[in-house]
Amino acid sequence: MSAPTYDLGKLHGGLRLEAHKNISTAEPIRKIPVPGQLVLPITQHAGDPAQPIVGIGERVLKGQLIADPEGSLGAPVHASSSGKVIAIEPWPVSRRHGDNAPCIVIECDGEDRAIEAAEILPAYDTLPADVLLTKVLQGGIVGLGGAVFPTAQKLMQAITCELDYVILNGVECEPYISCDDMLMREYAREVIGGAQILLHALEVDVCYIAVESDKPEAIHRLGEVLAELNDERIVLKQVPTIYPSGGEDQLVQLVTNLEVPTGGLPTDVGCLVQNVGTAAAIYNWITDNEPLVSRITTVTGDGVTQPMNVEARLGTTISDIINFVGGYTERAEQLIIGGPMTGKSVTTDRVPLVKATNCILVLSEVPSAAAEMPCIRCGECAAVCPIQLLPQQLFWYACADDETKMRSYGLVDCIECGCCDLVCPSHIPLTADFRTAKARIREQADEKARADRARVRFEARNERLEKEQQAREAELSLQKEAAKSAAPDTIAEIMKRKQEKPDED
Ligand code: SF4
Ligand code: SF4
Repeated sequence: MSAPTYDLGKLHGGLRLEAHKNISTAEPIRKIPVPGQLVLPITQHAGDPAQPIVGIGERVLKGQLIADPEGSLGAPVHASSSGKVIAIEPWPVSRRHGDNAPCIVIECDGEDRAIEAAEILPAYDTLPADVLLTKVLQGGIVGLGGAVFPTAQKLMQAITCELDYVILNGVECEPYISCDDMLMREYAREVIGGAQILLHALEVDVCYIAVESDKPEAIHRLGEVLAELNDERIVLKQVPTIYPSGGEDQLVQLVTNLEVPTGGLPTDVGCLVQNVGTAAAIYNWITDNEPLVSRITTVTGDGVTQPMNVEARLGTTISDIINFVGGYTERAEQLIIGGPMTGKSVTTDRVPLVKATNCILVLSEVPSAAAEMPCIRCGECAAVCPIQLLPQQLFWYACADDETKMRSYGLVDCIECGCCDLVCPSHIPLTADFRTAKARIREQADEKARADRARVRFEARNERLEKEQQAREAELSLQKEAAKSAAPDTIAEIMKRKQEKPDED
């Protein structure tokens, strides 16, 4: 067994937060039965929206493709059980921008019949990278740590770089969330199998599986499987339990002591980071032909009767999941999708479980927001910022809507971790302001990109019209030339005919 190692880099800032994880890890993961209805948002990934390829009334099977992405960045969506499509309509969802999204609603038949696999691949280690990556693309797999970036595209980008390390992210640093911990305890073989597939596809020789030191069961189980497989390329690394050590760039720094450049990617320093759940999803798809149709999620907080981790089909509504764990307690007041630091409050439990849902948190108290006061320039926010930003300066420029300054002070690098909020004695909602400012910048960039595309289309159309006009004019002038040169012949012919038959007129 490869022993966990501790030679770590340093993480700037961060906070040690109360974990609240034991309440959901006492029981093994429980599988939720097929619900009566599934609600599947057609876009559950970062990138271009997917488009439905099924119609209302159509029967579908588990694993059947029901929405295909348009554009170069996206992931397909598959039916997570068998049944009939009864609607394609906007439905409440949990996401940062907007509260409704088009969803495919399936009335389940309870039979859970799966579609037959189109092809069974030979053993992964006999396959070239392009075949494996194409297969990953078809499986609808996205980053399950929360970013939901399409995995195939991430791997395609990585394969063009010089890579030294694959890092599996088992660092679940946000309080209450324990789905990755439970996944590593119960599906360690799948996680490590996923690591082996990634090493083969990317032609890399070293994989670190990073796990926080407060997860001894997960570390033990992963160690056991590694010993069985005797794969020395894969090494466990324990990291300290500090929030937000699970951020990609922070993890690269901790595990390899390499610093991802500002605005860069881990691949710039030879690292590819994947969540442990994503690795297990890759393994299940490549070896068992099971696309991403379910996930493990933590249902927790003092607002639910029996906190635990469940494995549920994508599209299961939160209300069905809460019912499965015994319902709400009388004290339940606030429903959050995600953790307390980065999650989003929702006002209805009709929202469905999606690829990004790592936690359903129900709390009894809605903390009353303390009155916001002016910044006293104490510098606490800068001391805890893991990106080494100056949140007080950013806040100043966000209030002034000074995009140039916000950019130059690194707003786009902010990972919205919320550490600055927690320590601010003036109770300034820094993260919310940064999130809004980032969304505004993104919208402006999107708007500009749309305008640029429209301008290019307009210019191309004008150019085409101009060319067509020129072609028409050229054709006309050819015809005129032809007519001119044809006329004398015709007149000559007429004269000749006249001379031949002078009495005809
Ligand atoms: S929310 Fe942004 S600015 Fe605040 S601590 Fe986190 S990364 Fe730094
Ligand atoms: S922690 Fe709050 S009060 Fe202190 S410098 Fe930052 S924004 Fe200002």
